[in-house]
Amino acid sequence: MQQFDLIIIGGGPGGYLCAERAGKAGLRTALLEKRALGGTCLNEGCIPTKSLLYCAKQYQTMLHCEEYGIAAQNVSYDHAAAVVRKDGIVQTLVRGVGVSMKKHGVAVFSTEGKITGKTGDLFTVSAGAESLFAPRLVLASGSSAVVPPIPGVRDGLASGFVMTNRELLSLQAKPNSLVCIGGGVIGLEMACYFASIGTKVTVIEMMSKIAGNTDPEICALLMRTYRKQGMEFCLNAKVESLTEHSVIYSDASGKHEISCDRVLLSAGRRADVSGLNTEAIGVALERGAVVTDEHMRTNIPGVWAIGDCNGKLMLAHTAYREAEVAVNDMLGKKDRVDYSIIPSVIYTTPEVASVGETEQSALEKGLDIQVVKAPMALSGRYLAENPKGTGFCKLLYDRKNRCVVGVHLIGSYASEIIYGAAMMVHSKLPVQHLDKIVFPHPTVGEVVREALFML
Ligand code: FAD
Repeated sequence: MQQFDLIIIGGGPGGYLCAERAGKAGLRTALLEKRALGGTCLNEGCIPTKSLLYCAKQYQTMLHCEEYGIAAQNVSYDHAAAVVRKDGIVQTLVRGVGVSMKKHGVAVFSTEGKITGKTGDLFTVSAGAESLFAPRLVLASGSSAVVPPIPGVRDGLASGFVMTNRELLSLQAKPNSLVCIGGGVIGLEMACYFASIGTKVTVIEMMSKIAGNTDPEICALLMRTYRKQGMEFCLNAKVESLTEHSVIYSDASGKHEISCDRVLLSAGRRADVSGLNTEAIGVALERGAVVTDEHMRTNIPGVWAIGDCNGKLMLAHTAYREAEVAVNDMLGKKDRVDYSIIPSVIYTTPEVASVGETEQSALEKGLDIQVVKAPMALSGRYLAENPKGTGFCKLLYDRKNRCVVGVHLIGSYASEIIYGAAMMVHSKLPVQHLDKIVFPHPTVGEVVREALFML
């Protein structure tokens, strides 16, 4: 029996950052993780995908290197070597989380945590053979890939023909052909990686466009670019069934069959609280996700839920922010999560990054918006690196409140530029103040300044 000030179940970005902040604040903290510290993000999500995408980008550069005055012959790609490199990066980061836990005095239990009830003011959690007690509990159990109820999907998963991100990211041999079911961010990043290294990739998407709520003009340019890279898209299409080696889908023109080596399930993720035994203390769930308010409190005083398991905005940086808010809340510091200023990114070539309102959401809110669009080619750095590039920055300006309410970028470095745009949206600074910000020259980020001057 061990007593703590706080027990956290789940060691992904939500859980480990919460543990770090709580430990730093002096709370005796226990962190329970049943698989690997770092969760989905470090082990089978954000980091593995970015590591592989980087390798594929280098390969593409080498394939087209005459453009840069470089001669190279017999350029080839070793996918297995890229996976080994990726695994090394993951191990370094996972070790780093372990070191940080030690530094912050966090007790890590490498086992499944199960809520067993409440004794007086203390929640009780089983951690393998141990029983832990604490007056505060944070649920950070993450999410899992949606397995759509398609005939043949279970058999496909059992045979290895069908995979989730977990299996595909560790596949040693490059598939010759891959079908991605779902054209959201995860499907697109995987599709882009495999297409770049020579796999024939088809994305089947139920909606009329890829990339979810991304700005439609950006989606159109993104799809045109992907098509040039050899990816194929079936939009407004529904997967009907899977055979041993093919995917059968239907669209307005009828039924079609695609033979392929592998299928990726990228039809979304759902909050995963299975195994937590939330019923033991009556934590309220809605469609499988823990219900929370803006302070990350659940319906049970003393219990918070952060990250993907609350189903709000399934991104690692959302989990980070929610972790900070939960710790501040338990320490009595005023804080809340503002979901409207959380950026989203697609790390393919080209990159896409957005923050704030879209034209559609602004319209729905009745905002009086001016939309300006600046081509990235206005930036000398962008042109130097992408002489034929067609990237752009779209900026949404709220005429009434005289501030920037949305920024949408497509093109290189978009992922690195977007936090500056998020600061503009968050601060609601009037444009005459933003105009005074000096951007380093030459940078692709200058495109945001150009857009501001178009207002
Ligand atoms: P997780 O990272 O899922 O961690 C939850 C942890 O809890 C897991 O390790 C699990 O083993 C553990 N756990 C669950 N139940 C128990 C239990 N009962 N006892 C003990 N441990 C338990 N987001 C981004 O922001 N940027 C990206 O580029 C990005 N890329 C992605 C790419 C892919 C392929 C995928 C799948 C996701 C990506 N995401 C990205 C999303 C991101 O990974 C998640 O939003 C993030 O990991 C959520 O963090 P979390 O702490 O809530 O959950």
